[in-house]
Amino acid sequence: MKNLIPKIGLEIHVELCTTTKLFCDCPNNPDETHPNTNICEICTGQPGVLPVPNKQAVIYILSLANAFKMKINNPSIFARKHYFYPDLPKNYQISQYELPIAFEGIFEIYRKNFSKTIRIRRIHLEEDAGRLIHLGDKSLVDFNRAGVPLIEIVTEPDFRSSEEVIYFAEDLITLVRHLGISKANPEKGEIRFEANISLGIDDNLGTKVEIKNLNSLRALEESTLYEIERQKQIILSGEEVIQETRGWDENKKRTFSQRYKEEAEDYRYFPEPDIPPLFIDEGLKKEIIEIELPSERKKRFEREFNLEFSEAHIIVKDKILADFFENTISELKSMGSNNIKLLKNFLINDILGLLNKFNKNLSDLDFKPQHFAKLAKAFEDNLISSKIFKDILSKIIKDNADADNLLKENQKIVAEPEILNYVNEAIKNNQQAVQDFVAGKKSALEFIVGYVMKLTKGKADIEITRKLIEQKLNELKEK
Ligand code: ZN
Ligand code: MN
Repeated sequence: MKNLIPKIGLEIHVELCTTTKLFCDCPNNPDETHPNTNICEICTGQPGVLPVPNKQAVIYILSLANAFKMKINNPSIFARKHYFYPDLPKNYQISQYELPIAFEGIFEIYRKNFSKTIRIRRIHLEEDAGRLIHLGDKSLVDFNRAGVPLIEIVTEPDFRSSEEVIYFAEDLITLVRHLGISKANPEKGEIRFEANISLGIDDNLGTKVEIKNLNSLRALEESTLYEIERQKQIILSGEEVIQETRGWDENKKRTFSQRYKEEAEDYRYFPEPDIPPLFIDEGLKKEIIEIELPSERKKRFEREFNLEFSEAHIIVKDKILADFFENTISELKSMGSNNIKLLKNFLINDILGLLNKFNKNLSDLDFKPQHFAKLAKAFEDNLISSKIFKDILSKIIKDNADADNLLKENQKIVAEPEILNYVNEAIKNNQQAVQDFVAGKKSALEFIVGYVMKLTKGKADIEITRKLIEQKLNELKEK
C-alpha cells in the first residue's frame, strides 16, 4: 500500500457570549444554575411568536468571518433544520443552510517550526438546544440554553494528523477569546468538536467517518488518533471502511458505531418563513471587532521583542497578558530602559506562577503595567533585590497589595538629602562615637554607619551613608 494519507475536517460549534439569546431578549447566562429561568415564549417555541435575530450575534460572526478573511453572503438566509429530540422545543432548530453568513476563508496554524493554512468552508449562525438531566429513571429538561447563539464552523479536510487538529483547535480557542466573542471553555461545552476522517491514497479522500460529540481537546486528539489507526488496519487487511457516524467512548478509549449512512437523517431544511433574508449594511460592518490575529502577534513578539516561540506562545495565549506585557514595555521605555528580557522572565517565571498559585486573574488586580515597569526599573537600578521583587509580586497577587507603597517601603534609599537627615540624627545621638573619631579612633565611623542602617532598616545605601558620615565627621574634626 502506498501513501495512505489521513484527511481530517472539523465541524465546530462555538457558543457566543452575547448578552441575550439569538432570537429573543432572554439573558444568555451559562452560569445560571436554576433551570428554566431564562426562557420565554420565543425560545421555548410557543405558537404565534416571532424570532428576531440578535444584532450582537451578527456582529460577532462577522468579526470571526473577518478574522478568517471570508466572503460574505449578502443576504444570508436562516433555515429550519428538523429533528426530534426532547431538548429541542420547536422540533426544529433555526440554523442556516444554503446561504450561510460567510464562506471560503483561511486560518493559519502557527507553531514552532511549523505553519499551515487551513481552509474554512463556511460559518453560520444557529441556536443551541436545551439540556437534558437524567435522574434515575426520570429525565428532566432545562431550556436555559435553548436559543443561545452558536457559530458553526466547517473546515475543509485539510488536516493530515491528529496533531494538526489539536493545534488548530487551540489556536481557534485563542482567536475567539481575543475577539471576545466566546469564552470557549471546552469543559463547559462552550466549544464542541466533530471530526470527519478518511484515509485515501495521496490526494484521494477515501470513505468518510464522522466522530460526534468530542467535548474536550483530549477526546479530539485521542479519537482522531484512534480512528486513523482503525481505518488503516481495515484498509491494510483488504476490507472497506463503512461510511458512518461514530461516537467516542472515553472509558474504553475507542470509537464505536452509532449510525450508518443508510440511516442518515433527513433534516427537511427549508427557509425560515418568520425571518427575512439577513442583509449586512455598511453601519453593521463598522461595528466589526478587528484585532491583530494571535498568530501575527506571536510573530511580531518574536521579532520585535526577541522572544522564543514558546514565550510568545504563552504570553499571546491570553490577550490580557499580551496587552499587559506590551504596555509594560512602553512604560519601561518611557523610563529610559529597554530591558525586555527582565520583564519577560519575571512575567513568565514569577507572575504567571503566582497567578496560578493564588488562583487569580490579572484583570482582578489593581496591578497595572506602570507598576510592573516601576518595579522592574527599581530592580535594574539595584534599588531592590530579586528576592524583594518576588516578595512584592507575591503580596500584589495574593492580596492585591498596592505596588507603589510596597516599592516605597522596600527600595533602597539613595537620595543624599534623605540620607543626610539620618546621618545628622545619628551624629546627634552618638556624641561619644563622634568624640572617639575626632580623637583618632577610625572604627567609630563604622559604629555610626551601623546606627544609620538600624534607623533605615538597612535601606540606606551603605556607600553613600559612609561617605556622608565621613564628610560630617571631618568637618567636626577641623573645627
Ligand atoms: Zn427567550
Ligand atoms: Mn450545527
